[in-house]
Amino acid sequence: MQMLPVANETADPTYAAIRAAVSASYSGALGSTRLPPLEVLAYLATAIGSLYREVAGAHEGPEGCPCGWEPCALMDVITMQQALAASALPNDDPRQTALLTMEPAGHA
Ligand SMILES: [Zn+2]
Repeated sequence: MQMLPVANETADPTYAAIRAAVSASYSGALGSTRLPPLEVLAYLATAIGSLYREVAGAHEGPEGCPCGWEPCALMDVITMQQALAASALPNDDPRQTALLTMEPAGHA
């Protein structure tokens, strides 16, 4: 299974830029909607999933992007879930370790 590196804001300018953009979206939605924080975060997660579907679709078929990435929705979603868990749960939380070592059922 592909493991994404754990982003480090101070060492990774790409992560820092994306986090700043997402943070601005969160703050804007929270302020304009007065939705509960978790509901706004769930919207952000939904947007990421939708973006994944769009990008994966652009890599499918003979007219797809030629970069070589071959989307695998189940494994890709697990990779994204693990990245979320790695950054959202405290490092010493045993649930983080459980999530990071989890393999999808039916895949060796
Ligand atoms: Zn591509």
